[in-house]
Amino acid sequence: MTGRNETSILLIYTGGTIGMVHDPVTGSLIPIDFKLITTHVPELSKFGYDIQAISFDPVKDSSNIDPQVWIRLAEIIEEFYDRFDGFVVLHGTDTMAYTASALSFMLENLRKPVIFTGSQLPIGLLRTDGRENLITAIEIAAARDLGLSLVPEVSIYFDNKLTRGNRTRKYSAEHFDVFKSPNYPPLVEAGIHVKYNTHVIRYPDPDRDLIVRKSFDTNVAILKIFPGISRKLVNAITHTEGLRGLIIETFGSGNAPTYPWFIEELKSYIERGGIIFNVTQCHGGSVEMGVYETSLEMREAGVISGKDITSEAAVTKLMFLLGTCNSREEVEKNLQRSMAGEIS
Ligand code: ASP
Repeated sequence: MTGRNETSILLIYTGGTIGMVHDPVTGSLIPIDFKLITTHVPELSKFGYDIQAISFDPVKDSSNIDPQVWIRLAEIIEEFYDRFDGFVVLHGTDTMAYTASALSFMLENLRKPVIFTGSQLPIGLLRTDGRENLITAIEIAAARDLGLSLVPEVSIYFDNKLTRGNRTRKYSAEHFDVFKSPNYPPLVEAGIHVKYNTHVIRYPDPDRDLIVRKSFDTNVAILKIFPGISRKLVNAITHTEGLRGLIIETFGSGNAPTYPWFIEELKSYIERGGIIFNVTQCHGGSVEMGVYETSLEMREAGVISGKDITSEAAVTKLMFLLGTCNSREEVEKNLQRSMAGEIS
């Protein structure tokens, strides 16, 4: 699809519900050849942009997307970075927040938009939410002022809102309003006008080049604390062979039981070289260790506060830091600072 002006967008289709149509013979849903996307969304040609599409082969349900795919996506963006003005990644909603978080850490000093979108209903259905999501994601990816992208971030567009990828979580398995960004305002709101909230968008240093880091260490775990949690369970997890980092999802503002055995298990894991990162299991808000006695001892034991990070950003950040840093100190230091706007 060659357009009339120079704005160019690369669509990268990884898989997910959006790329499905009814098979005319069997009636069941089958993936489309994404290179023929204008056949299914003819409105795209009205943009007048140069829109190219590439597709993963085979396409993936996002439950099967892993760090290898994150690396592949970063490689594609790196390869075509100079050729396109913006990138729109079509991805299943189930793990979209993880992939967007991972990419936000991998693509340092990003100057072009990388917008993830998808849909709850396949693009081939009359009531699909995919058409609007795709069209507006492309419009935002193409938006520039004085040659600079208006939203040079890794973000998620769904149901009239563009939110920062590493702040976003899948919230509903039912509604078109799938995602929420509980601790950070939307970067863009689409109504009659498309409103760019420039005061909350991150802008890179225009003179620095993109740096792509492509290494992850998956020796991490998430332990959700619950009333009645047993020592046997905590002991088994913290003794998992090779485990380098443990995220604990705690109550409220970062609280956990004060049973002496619980603190002992955490302390012993940290003494053996493990890193523990404390995130809240609440949907919004922040960990504030030390506010209650139920988190004070964890802080004294060396547990690191995840502040208002999402679990999705926490697990991808931990894997990324363990894969790219040279020392434990470096991992710990970076966990506590915002690398890509993921914590306040
Ligand atoms: N299971 C699908 C996926 O995440 C759902 C979707 O496409 O939204 O790939």
